[in-house]
Amino acid sequence: LGVPLPVRSLWADTGPTPPNRSALPGNTDVDVAIVGAGYTGLWTAHYLRSADPSLRIAIIEAEHAGFGASGRNGGWCSALAPMHVTHAVQQTMYDSVREVENVANELGIDCDFARGGYANLARNKAQLARIRAKVDAARALGISERDYGELTLANARTMVHASRLLGAAFTPHCAALHPGKLVHGLAAAVERAGVKLFEHTRVTALQPRRVETDHGIIRAEVVVRATEAFTARLAGHRRDVLPVYSLMIATEPLSDAVWDEIGLATRPVFNDARNLIIYGQRTADNRFAFGGRGAPYHFGSAINPNFDGHLGTHDGLRDVLVDMFPVLRHVAVTHRWGGPLAVPRDWHASVSFDRESGMAYAGGYVGDGVSTTNLAGRTLADLITGRATDLTRLPWVQHRSRKWEPEPLRWLAVHGVAALTYRLDRSDHQERPARLGRYIHNKFVGTD
Ligand SMILES: Cc1cc2nc3c(=O)[nH]c(=O)nc-3n(C[C@H](O)[C@H](O)[C@H](O)COP(=O)(O)OP(=O)(O)OC[C@H]3O[C@@H](n4cnc5c(N)ncnc54)[C@H](O)[C@@H]3O)c2cc1C
Repeated sequence: LGVPLPVRSLWADTGPTPPNRSALPGNTDVDVAIVGAGYTGLWTAHYLRSADPSLRIAIIEAEHAGFGASGRNGGWCSALAPMHVTHAVQQTMYDSVREVENVANELGIDCDFARGGYANLARNKAQLARIRAKVDAARALGISERDYGELTLANARTMVHASRLLGAAFTPHCAALHPGKLVHGLAAAVERAGVKLFEHTRVTALQPRRVETDHGIIRAEVVVRATEAFTARLAGHRRDVLPVYSLMIATEPLSDAVWDEIGLATRPVFNDARNLIIYGQRTADNRFAFGGRGAPYHFGSAINPNFDGHLGTHDGLRDVLVDMFPVLRHVAVTHRWGGPLAVPRDWHASVSFDRESGMAYAGGYVGDGVSTTNLAGRTLADLITGRATDLTRLPWVQHRSRKWEPEPLRWLAVHGVAALTYRLDRSDHQERPARLGRYIHNKFVGTD
């Protein structure tokens, strides 16, 4: 069970105070009903309204806009693609980072967007081999050195002065942003464009052309499901994705002297190449926002606000951050929070639309949804308005992931892989290769 902690997100404390929107007033007819007011639902509404301003669109949100991962994430607007990567997919992801920046500017959303790139650090020999393999794979895909390459050790150290640094891979195609400012800015922008956004309205059943909620029934030609990790709570979809908790901490604002020791002057986001994912950014107000996986999976894919805090994982994140930057030893952690993201069985995101039934879906971004949701929104808008474009031909369109195993197999497998991942990182650190473990890990997790 999650240990109750004072859980409060940095983004909620330092972002705008959003309006408290009303619930669905009763039975309603629209052209498009979108379930979920995270980035996926909001971007989809934005691009649909831009393509056809006459469309009547309603977004139905169980809590409030940005309640899910979109209001709680690490703020990496990255070109990391949670799907099979081809040259075309990678270029489209680069475009998506630019698109988020351009549209945020056009809509007047100040989300502290800083395109400082992404530095993937190597802090032991195993990690160095891993980043070099990734750079080689990028070359094999036709990605240029400028788009993804290895830094000299001197340049890596200037960019970010982490302990035991042996090297880094770097891409300029990434920005750090304030997730709360983005999601609340987007919600306000789609409302200005004429989209109806209903909060505190839970969808209880989804059928073609009919959405049942606890406040009435919506009839719509097109129904878009944009519920990401919370999909696991919807009847008929309980094994579609695995809700995996990612947890974060933030420090107090740090002095210029501390930042002079650390670097990150242009706000590149960073992690190291360990197996158990971590992610960090220097915020616009000069804190560290730092997160990672490792929180327990809960039997039956349970989701509960109590799971947003987990003492061991949050303390572990602080330890990792201090290990990377010992100058932070006495710095106060002011915020701890977390939330669920969605992992499909094959770790492959998808966008789908069935014209006959009018049912659409996008999600399964694993931990890379900040820019990918934008791509999903543009793609769904093209599919729904019947335009065949480069986006609708991408391989994640109409992709189907198989369902997760029933319990207790699911619980056993997830906990087994988590334990293995810890072991692998320990053996990396001790520079002892764990070949069998790595083989099993790659088989299950599909990424390394
Ligand atoms: C802690 C954390 C850190 C992350 N860091 C990053 C990062 O740095 N970079 C990155 O690219 N990605 C990151 N991610 C992932 C990224 O945040 C998500 O992929 C993205 O926000 C998904 O957006 P979404 O709109 O699809 O889902 P969500 O934002 O989760 O929105 C789904 C919405 O649907 C609503 N909903 C669900 N069920 C119902 C229902 N029955 N009725 C009505 N409404 C419903 C929910 O209340 C929720 O608001 C992170 C995720 C987490 C949790």
